Amino acid sequence: MPTRRRSWAEPWKIKMVEPLKMLTADERKAAIEGAGCNTFLLRSEDVYIDLLTDSGTSAMSDRQWAGMMLGDEAYAGSRNYYHLEDAVRDVYGYKHLIPTHQGRAAEHMISRLLIEEGDFVPGNMYFTTTRLHQEMAGATFVDVIIDEAHQPDLMHPFKGNVDLDKFQALIDEVGAEKIPYISDATTVNMCGGQPISLENLRQVSELAHANGILVIHDMTRVAENALLIKEREPGQADRSMEEIVRDICDLTDGCTMSSKKDHLVNIGGFLAVNDDALADKARNMVVIYEGLHTYGGMSGRDMEALSIGIYESIQYDHIHARVGQVHYLGNKIADEGIPIMKPIGTHGVFLDAKRFLPHLDQDEFPAQALAAELYVESGVRAMERGNVSAGRNPDTGENRRPALELVRLTIPRRVYTQAHMDVVAESVMEIWDKRESIGGLEFTYEPEYLRFFQARFRPKC
Ligand SMILES: *Cc1c(COP(=O)(O)O)cnc(C)c1O
Repeated sequence: MPTRRRSWAEPWKIKMVEPLKMLTADERKAAIEGAGCNTFLLRSEDVYIDLLTDSGTSAMSDRQWAGMMLGDEAYAGSRNYYHLEDAVRDVYGYKHLIPTHQGRAAEHMISRLLIEEGDFVPGNMYFTTTRLHQEMAGATFVDVIIDEAHQPDLMHPFKGNVDLDKFQALIDEVGAEKIPYISDATTVNMCGGQPISLENLRQVSELAHANGILVIHDMTRVAENALLIKEREPGQADRSMEEIVRDICDLTDGCTMSSKKDHLVNIGGFLAVNDDALADKARNMVVIYEGLHTYGGMSGRDMEALSIGIYESIQYDHIHARVGQVHYLGNKIADEGIPIMKPIGTHGVFLDAKRFLPHLDQDEFPAQALAAELYVESGVRAMERGNVSAGRNPDTGENRRPALELVRLTIPRRVYTQAHMDVVAESVMEIWDKRESIGGLEFTYEPEYLRFFQARFRPKC
């Protein structure tokens, strides 16, 4: 008997659809020119398959939509806030919840509360908004991720891990009193959605706590990280998602969360901490910037959908299918010999623009150029994660020229089918075939902060 393959499929069926349309090639060319070659400046209506981000773009479940009808829109003490507080305590174990409108608001608050001018904040690679809030609060960010993370072609099961020697060296150099906390992210977005191991987090937590340093968890994609711990870390295969997620959180002192990712909602986030005094300060700060401490910028219905999404995010069938879809796309592209970040991460496939367009200098923004070209080719919208995203060094004013120059094809959760993934892979193959004809870009407008969102470019002649 020949062995037959049994495919897995998504653990849901579609109840409501949204039509897609594709512009003509000439219209797409005009659209990207009008957008200054920046996919963030395209109108969504001009996009065919939108892989700009997995942030706030996921499809809610019928249960979450039902929850939207149960919104208690009271200014103070909404019942949905208490549901959210219960869910955060139940699943993550953090004692105090401070709701915010999205993740960066939580980053803003924790940075302002813990950092003093001249401090240092180590982290497992930077994230754009996280680092900026740390810098604006007066800290210098120090990357303490393992070296393997900066090498796109190197296989390593936990490329997000912290290098304990680098962390120790920073403590020795500047003194533990200058390091209020280390930020440890699950998963690491900027190096391709790479996970950390439980063992590494345990060691980080021990070293930090032995030196009076807090561990603040950027848990934007903690469920995706937990799945890879289950699949890759010795001794974890038989443990549930709940147990692994809880272990991660228990090793940390607090978290910032962008619920627009793991939690399957279109808006929302929170800060959560265990320390009572820190929570009081955060509750006092949230009323200045976000709203009362029982809504923090979210409506009651948003908080209800979010509470339900927390439970859905850790269902094994869901997360297995979500990551499986990303790997399906990644393998299809990699099988053609097209250079991508390896191993394939959890929320997207990252094209390695340095090896895709080796004829361009990094200051000609190869990843930006590649994302623009992909849109013109196929109407697929991706985004740059390279020199433009990294910005300029505040001391020298030079482009940071990061080791990784990537184009991120980010997959929204529960939104696109396998056929969409096929079209995306085929579109990437088309531009791979004509890669030598793709030229570089130069700025026509460069904003001061988080320049990748709003910058404009023109082809460099
Ligand atoms: C999206 C994201 C954030 C910021 O959250 P927002 O909800 O976009 O403000 C922080 N860290 C990581 C790793 C993220 O992916």
